[in-house]
Amino acid sequence: MSEEDLKKLNILVIDDDEFMLDIVSMTLERLGYNLVTVCSDGRKALQKIDDGERFDVAMVDLNMPLMDGIEVLRYMAARQFSGGILLFSGEDARILKTALSLASAHNLNVLGSLHKPVTINALKKVLDKYHSKSDVSKRKLVELVGADELRNAITEGQIVPFYQPKVRVVDKSLASAEVLARWHHPERGLVPPIAFISVAEEHGIINELTRVIFEQAIEQFGKWRKQGHEFTLGMNLSADSLSVIDLPEQISALASANDVPCSAIELEITESRLMQNLATSLDVLTRFRLKGFGLSIDDFGTGFSSMSQLSNVPFTELKIDRAFVHGVENDASALAILESSVQLAKRLELTVVAEGVEDQSDWNQVAAAQCDLVQGYFIAKPMPASEFERWITSHQTHAK
Ligand code: C2E
Ligand code: CA
Ligand code: CA
Repeated sequence: MSEEDLKKLNILVIDDDEFMLDIVSMTLERLGYNLVTVCSDGRKALQKIDDGERFDVAMVDLNMPLMDGIEVLRYMAARQFSGGILLFSGEDARILKTALSLASAHNLNVLGSLHKPVTINALKKVLDKYHSKSDVSKRKLVELVGADELRNAITEGQIVPFYQPKVRVVDKSLASAEVLARWHHPERGLVPPIAFISVAEEHGIINELTRVIFEQAIEQFGKWRKQGHEFTLGMNLSADSLSVIDLPEQISALASANDVPCSAIELEITESRLMQNLATSLDVLTRFRLKGFGLSIDDFGTGFSSMSQLSNVPFTELKIDRAFVHGVENDASALAILESSVQLAKRLELTVVAEGVEDQSDWNQVAAAQCDLVQGYFIAKPMPASEFERWITSHQTHAK
């Protein structure tokens, strides 16, 4: 890496401690990085990103009073931040490690972590990684879509459900199918939900999107049930939709129109988003439960909910985030979180699902930890309805 190239790298440093900001930017300058922007508050930093400022690397402090580093990471993920991420903290190494797993699970491009006080050698070492990771600078940015384009796609029927199996650990039999939205874009091909769900939420079109996905998936599910298939259907529900007070009535009407009992549907709600608005959501959640719907707490482990918060909501299922599942064999702190999540779930009598099981080693670990159900590429990727039907048939033949 030439001196010239170093100078071209834009580095953003976020830390509430002004003294730390001075030290880090001085150290960076000594290493030859001259384009350094410092920010004493996560919100200001995100504003810069929203304003279109481009950064190649963001250094994020974990402990900040106004918006902590974990939250900053979550927002950066939602904004598809494609630069390198470097975390630093004065907390113990395990917290840093958990934060790193989280950042990777959010598909952020993690370079590594630094323990405070930051030394020049440690900093040099992680930043060198940026230059050696060949995919980093070439990484394709998932372009966010425009709200009008998305509205149009919804009315044109371009948003369709894909299905991914959850299987039982005991015998690999099919327990449920999770519905995952995909956009058949006329020019861009198949667009993943990361590019449009947050746009839908920010522009108030999420309820429309939910409606078209639910209509298609529940109709399909009704057909599968008539053919004698006995699995349940997992549907993702945005925490924003929990303010729609008659949502339980709307969805149960849709279910009964397709001869589907509410108890055959579980609604998955992301832990972190839910906890921000728990009071207003409890009403709707409780009425869903009264109608018989299953309620699943999604991405568990990423929202830092407390046991008392959790036990207030009538959940039936807990899905452990893939940050604590994939690669857990070589990650003692992830394993500790996996095992304690299973214990917590069992105590609350919830079904436990491990997400992101990608290989045999992940499978062995979650089976040993006594998870009930498994979902992940090791079993199957999300598929369109026709392919899912073929998968069921061949899977059943193999299992026998
Ligand atoms: P999620 O609910 O946590 O869904 C699981 C995601 O993990 C899916 O990503 C799935 O394709 C992916 N996945 C499954 N197995 C593996 C694996 O073994 N390894 C890895 N690395 N990933 C795996 P997808 O389909 O891109 O969906 C992303 C997120 O978008 C979902 O996360 C969910 O929060 C949201 N989403 C999807 N469809 C809908 C929807 O209809 N409504 C709402 N509100 N949100 C949706
Ligand atoms: Ca889900
Ligand atoms: Ca999840």
